[in-house]
Amino acid sequence: MIIDTTPDRPRVIGEIDIFAAQTLVHEDAIYIHESAQFHVDRLDWDERKAYVRRVDVDHYTYADRAVTLKPLETFASAPTDGGTRAHGEVMVSSLVTMFKKLKFGTDENLGWGPVHLPEIELQTTAYWLVAGEAAQGWRRADLDVALLGAGRAMQAVAAVLLMLDPRDLGLVSQVRSPHHQAPTIYLYEAVPGGVGLSERLYERHAELVAGAADLIAGCACVSGCPACTGPRLEPDVDAKALALRLLRGLVAGCVAGAEGAAAAGNAAPTAAA
Ligand SMILES: [Zn+2]
Repeated sequence: MIIDTTPDRPRVIGEIDIFAAQTLVHEDAIYIHESAQFHVDRLDWDERKAYVRRVDVDHYTYADRAVTLKPLETFASAPTDGGTRAHGEVMVSSLVTMFKKLKFGTDENLGWGPVHLPEIELQTTAYWLVAGEAAQGWRRADLDVALLGAGRAMQAVAAVLLMLDPRDLGLVSQVRSPHHQAPTIYLYEAVPGGVGLSERLYERHAELVAGAADLIAGCACVSGCPACTGPRLEPDVDAKALALRLLRGLVAGCVAGAEGAAAAGNAAPTAAA
Protein backbone atom coordinates (compact mmCIF):
# COMPACT_ATOMS: atom_id res chain seq x y z
CA MET A 1 0.00 0.00 0.00
CA ILE A 2 1.44 3.36 -1.03
CA ILE A 3 0.62 6.20 1.32
CA ASP A 4 1.12 9.84 0.36
CA THR A 5 2.09 11.86 3.44
CA THR A 6 2.24 15.22 1.58
CA PRO A 7 -1.27 16.37 2.56
CA ASP A 8 -2.14 16.99 6.20
CA ARG A 9 -4.19 13.86 6.16
CA PRO A 10 -2.13 11.05 4.54
CA ARG A 11 -3.96 9.12 1.85
CA VAL A 12 -3.50 5.85 -0.02
CA ILE A 13 -2.59 6.55 -3.66
CA GLY A 14 -2.12 3.02 -4.88
CA GLU A 15 -1.22 -0.59 -4.32
CA ILE A 16 1.46 -2.69 -5.94
CA ASP A 17 2.35 -6.31 -5.37
CA ILE A 18 5.22 -7.36 -3.18
CA PHE A 19 7.39 -8.32 -6.15
CA ALA A 20 7.11 -4.89 -7.78
CA ALA A 21 7.56 -3.22 -4.39
CA GLN A 22 11.12 -4.53 -4.22
CA THR A 23 12.25 -2.30 -7.10
CA LEU A 24 9.71 0.55 -7.07
CA VAL A 25 9.16 1.61 -3.47
CA HIS A 26 12.39 0.76 -1.65
CA GLU A 27 13.54 3.60 0.58
CA ASP A 28 14.79 6.65 -1.38
CA ALA A 29 13.14 5.46 -4.60
CA ILE A 30 11.41 8.02 -6.79
CA TYR A 31 7.98 6.49 -7.35
CA ILE A 32 5.98 7.80 -10.31
CA HIS A 33 2.22 7.94 -9.85
CA GLU A 34 -0.02 9.59 -12.47
CA SER A 35 3.01 11.48 -13.86
CA ALA A 36 3.85 12.91 -10.41
CA GLN A 37 7.07 12.14 -8.56
CA PHE A 38 7.06 10.83 -5.01
CA HIS A 39 10.06 10.18 -2.82
CA VAL A 40 9.80 7.02 -0.71
CA ASP A 41 10.66 8.18 2.81
CA ARG A 42 10.03 4.89 4.53
CA LEU A 43 9.09 1.34 3.60
CA ASP A 44 7.62 -0.81 6.32
CA TRP A 45 8.10 -4.20 4.71
CA ASP A 46 6.35 -6.24 7.41
CA GLU A 47 3.30 -3.97 7.41
CA ARG A 48 3.37 -3.75 3.59
CA LYS A 49 3.28 0.05 3.65
CA ALA A 50 5.38 2.57 1.74
CA TYR A 51 5.28 6.18 2.93
CA VAL A 52 5.90 8.65 0.12
CA ARG A 53 6.06 12.43 -0.29
CA ARG A 54 5.51 14.61 -3.37
CA VAL A 55 8.76 15.92 -4.88
CA ASP A 56 9.97 17.53 -8.09
CA VAL A 57 13.43 16.25 -9.04
CA ASP A 58 15.53 15.92 -12.20
CA HIS A 59 16.18 12.20 -11.88
CA TYR A 60 14.54 8.82 -11.61
CA THR A 61 15.69 5.75 -9.74
CA TYR A 62 16.45 2.36 -11.18
CA ALA A 63 16.83 -0.71 -9.00
CA ASP A 64 18.02 -3.83 -10.71
CA ARG A 65 16.98 -7.21 -9.40
CA ALA A 66 19.49 -9.97 -9.03
CA VAL A 67 17.22 -12.71 -10.32
CA THR A 68 17.97 -16.39 -10.30
CA LEU A 69 15.61 -18.31 -12.54
CA LYS A 70 15.37 -22.05 -12.70
CA PRO A 71 13.05 -23.87 -15.13
CA LEU A 72 11.04 -26.55 -13.31
CA GLU A 73 8.98 -27.97 -16.16
CA THR A 74 8.66 -27.30 -19.90
CA PHE A 75 5.02 -27.30 -21.03
CA ALA A 76 5.82 -26.91 -24.74
CA SER A 77 8.75 -26.07 -26.98
CA ALA A 78 9.37 -25.71 -30.71
CA PRO A 79 12.26 -24.80 -32.98
CA THR A 80 12.15 -21.30 -34.41
CA ASP A 81 14.37 -19.08 -36.60
CA GLY A 82 17.82 -19.12 -35.03
CA GLY A 83 16.78 -20.92 -31.86
CA THR A 84 14.00 -22.49 -29.79
CA ARG A 85 10.90 -21.05 -28.10
CA ALA A 86 9.26 -22.57 -25.04
CA HIS A 87 7.01 -21.96 -22.07
CA GLY A 88 6.77 -23.66 -18.75
CA GLU A 89 7.01 -23.44 -14.98
CA VAL A 90 9.94 -21.68 -13.31
CA MET A 91 11.21 -20.72 -9.88
CA VAL A 92 12.36 -17.12 -9.58
CA SER A 93 14.41 -15.76 -6.67
CA SER A 94 14.68 -11.99 -6.59
CA LEU A 95 17.02 -9.87 -4.51
CA VAL A 96 17.49 -6.10 -4.72
CA THR A 97 20.57 -4.69 -3.06
CA MET A 98 21.09 -1.27 -4.67
CA PHE A 99 19.56 1.41 -6.87
CA LYS A 100 20.94 4.05 -9.20
CA LYS A 101 19.85 7.65 -9.62
CA LEU A 102 19.70 8.52 -13.32
CA LYS A 103 19.14 11.94 -14.81
CA PHE A 104 16.08 12.42 -17.02
CA GLY A 105 16.94 12.76 -20.69
CA THR A 106 20.60 11.86 -20.55
CA ASP A 107 20.44 8.89 -18.14
CA GLU A 108 23.59 10.28 -16.56
CA ASN A 109 24.45 8.36 -13.40
CA LEU A 110 24.01 10.72 -10.44
CA GLY A 111 24.85 8.24 -7.73
CA TRP A 112 23.50 5.16 -6.05
CA GLY A 113 22.15 3.91 -2.75
CA PRO A 114 21.71 0.64 -0.91
CA VAL A 115 18.46 -1.34 -0.62
CA HIS A 116 17.95 -3.55 2.41
CA LEU A 117 15.12 -5.94 1.64
CA PRO A 118 14.70 -9.71 1.96
CA GLU A 119 14.94 -12.05 -1.02
CA ILE A 120 11.60 -13.09 -2.56
CA GLU A 121 10.87 -16.48 -4.12
CA LEU A 122 8.21 -16.78 -6.76
CA GLN A 123 6.99 -19.97 -8.43
CA THR A 124 5.43 -18.92 -11.70
CA THR A 125 5.33 -19.51 -15.45
CA ALA A 126 7.60 -18.11 -18.14
CA TYR A 127 8.05 -17.89 -21.88
CA TRP A 128 11.60 -18.28 -23.09
CA LEU A 129 13.69 -18.01 -26.19
CA VAL A 130 16.91 -19.97 -26.54
CA ALA A 131 19.21 -18.35 -29.09
CA GLY A 132 21.00 -21.16 -30.85
CA GLU A 133 22.52 -20.40 -34.28
CA ALA A 134 21.57 -16.74 -33.90
CA ALA A 135 24.10 -16.38 -31.08
CA GLN A 136 26.96 -18.30 -32.59
CA GLY A 137 30.28 -16.54 -33.11
CA TRP A 138 29.49 -13.68 -30.70
CA ARG A 139 31.84 -12.15 -28.15
CA ARG A 140 30.47 -12.90 -24.70
CA ALA A 141 30.35 -9.23 -23.61
CA ASP A 142 28.48 -8.21 -26.79
CA LEU A 143 26.04 -11.08 -26.42
CA ASP A 144 25.34 -10.08 -22.82
CA VAL A 145 24.34 -6.55 -23.93
CA ALA A 146 22.40 -7.86 -26.95
CA LEU A 147 20.36 -10.35 -24.90
CA LEU A 148 19.43 -7.75 -22.32
CA GLY A 149 18.58 -5.09 -24.93
CA ALA A 150 16.56 -7.55 -27.03
CA GLY A 151 14.85 -8.83 -23.89
CA ARG A 152 13.88 -5.31 -22.78
CA ALA A 153 12.37 -4.60 -26.19
CA MET A 154 10.52 -7.94 -26.16
CA GLN A 155 9.20 -7.10 -22.69
CA ALA A 156 7.87 -3.76 -24.00
CA VAL A 157 6.31 -5.38 -27.09
CA ALA A 158 4.78 -8.18 -24.99
CA ALA A 159 3.05 -5.57 -22.84
CA VAL A 160 1.51 -4.01 -25.95
CA LEU A 161 0.57 -7.33 -27.60
CA LEU A 162 -1.16 -8.65 -24.48
CA MET A 163 -2.28 -5.22 -23.20
CA LEU A 164 -0.40 -5.50 -19.91
CA ASP A 165 1.38 -3.27 -17.49
CA PRO A 166 5.07 -3.84 -18.36
CA ARG A 167 5.62 -4.76 -14.71
CA ASP A 168 3.46 -7.87 -15.16
CA LEU A 169 6.42 -9.52 -16.88
CA GLY A 170 9.93 -9.83 -15.53
CA LEU A 171 13.01 -10.31 -17.66
CA VAL A 172 15.99 -12.57 -17.18
CA SER A 173 18.72 -12.93 -19.77
CA GLN A 174 21.45 -15.51 -19.44
CA VAL A 175 24.50 -15.63 -21.69
CA ARG A 176 24.77 -19.28 -20.93
CA SER A 177 21.70 -20.75 -19.27
CA PRO A 178 22.71 -23.55 -16.87
CA HIS A 179 19.57 -25.36 -17.99
CA HIS A 180 19.82 -24.99 -21.78
CA GLN A 181 23.60 -24.53 -22.09
CA ALA A 182 22.87 -21.67 -24.49
CA PRO A 183 21.99 -17.94 -24.44
CA THR A 184 18.42 -17.58 -23.22
CA ILE A 185 15.89 -14.76 -22.73
CA TYR A 186 13.12 -15.44 -20.22
CA LEU A 187 9.97 -13.36 -19.74
CA TYR A 188 8.36 -14.56 -16.50
CA GLU A 189 5.02 -13.65 -15.00
CA ALA A 190 5.42 -11.53 -11.90
CA VAL A 191 2.56 -13.19 -10.00
CA PRO A 192 2.56 -16.57 -8.26
CA GLY A 193 1.53 -19.36 -10.63
CA GLY A 194 1.14 -17.02 -13.61
CA VAL A 195 -2.14 -16.22 -15.35
CA GLY A 196 -1.51 -17.73 -18.79
CA LEU A 197 0.51 -14.90 -20.33
CA SER A 198 3.49 -17.16 -21.01
CA GLU A 199 1.55 -19.51 -23.23
CA ARG A 200 0.15 -16.54 -25.16
CA LEU A 201 3.65 -15.17 -25.68
CA TYR A 202 4.79 -18.58 -26.84
CA GLU A 203 1.99 -18.62 -29.41
CA ARG A 204 2.80 -15.09 -30.58
CA HIS A 205 6.57 -15.63 -30.58
CA ALA A 206 7.14 -14.43 -34.16
CA GLU A 207 5.22 -11.19 -33.62
CA LEU A 208 7.02 -10.64 -30.37
CA VAL A 209 10.52 -10.98 -31.81
CA ALA A 210 9.77 -9.07 -35.02
CA GLY A 211 8.00 -6.38 -33.00
CA ALA A 212 11.04 -6.00 -30.75
CA ALA A 213 13.29 -5.55 -33.81
CA ASP A 214 10.87 -2.94 -35.22
CA LEU A 215 10.70 -1.11 -31.90
CA ILE A 216 14.48 -0.79 -31.67
CA ALA A 217 15.02 0.02 -35.35
CA GLY A 218 12.27 2.66 -35.24
CA CYS A 219 13.41 4.32 -32.01
CA ALA A 220 14.83 7.82 -32.43
CA CYS A 221 17.76 7.16 -30.10
CA VAL A 222 21.32 6.63 -31.33
CA SER A 223 22.57 3.67 -29.32
CA GLY A 224 19.77 2.46 -27.07
CA CYS A 225 17.49 4.15 -24.51
CA PRO A 226 14.87 3.30 -21.87
CA ALA A 227 12.15 3.27 -24.55
CA CYS A 228 13.75 0.45 -26.54
CA THR A 229 16.75 -1.47 -25.15
CA GLY A 230 16.33 -0.28 -21.56
CA PRO A 231 18.20 2.09 -19.25
CA ARG A 232 21.74 2.59 -20.50
CA LEU A 233 23.84 1.11 -17.77
CA GLU A 234 27.01 1.23 -19.86
CA PRO A 235 26.81 4.46 -21.89
CA ASP A 236 29.74 3.58 -24.18
CA VAL A 237 28.15 0.42 -25.49
CA ASP A 238 25.91 0.44 -28.59
CA ALA A 239 23.10 -1.67 -27.17
CA LYS A 240 20.87 -0.74 -30.10
CA ALA A 241 23.11 -2.22 -32.81
CA LEU A 242 23.88 -5.34 -30.78
CA ALA A 243 20.26 -6.07 -29.85
CA LEU A 244 19.13 -5.51 -33.44
CA ARG A 245 21.78 -7.82 -34.81
CA LEU A 246 20.67 -10.58 -32.46
CA LEU A 247 16.94 -10.09 -33.11
CA ARG A 248 17.49 -10.12 -36.87
CA GLY A 249 19.12 -13.50 -36.50
CA LEU A 250 16.00 -14.68 -34.69
CA VAL A 251 13.45 -13.51 -37.26
CA ALA A 252 15.08 -14.52 -40.52
CA GLY A 253 12.85 -13.31 -43.32
CA CYS A 254 10.21 -11.51 -41.26
CA VAL A 255 11.90 -8.36 -39.98
CA ALA A 256 10.71 -6.36 -42.98
CA GLY A 257 7.28 -5.62 -41.57
CA ALA A 258 4.82 -6.42 -38.82
CA GLU A 259 2.51 -7.93 -41.43
CA GLY A 260 4.89 -10.71 -42.33
CA ALA A 261 5.62 -11.28 -38.67
CA ALA A 262 1.95 -11.50 -37.82
CA ALA A 263 1.38 -14.00 -40.60
CA ALA A 264 4.29 -16.10 -39.39
CA GLY A 265 2.87 -15.93 -35.87
CA ASN A 266 -0.52 -17.17 -37.00
CA ALA A 267 0.98 -19.96 -39.04
CA ALA A 268 3.28 -21.15 -36.27
CA PRO A 269 2.34 -24.50 -34.79
CA THR A 270 1.13 -24.38 -31.20
CA ALA A 271 1.63 -27.19 -28.75
CA ALA A 272 -0.73 -27.82 -25.90
CA ALA A 273 0.48 -28.04 -22.33
ZN1 LIG B 1 15.80 3.86 -28.10
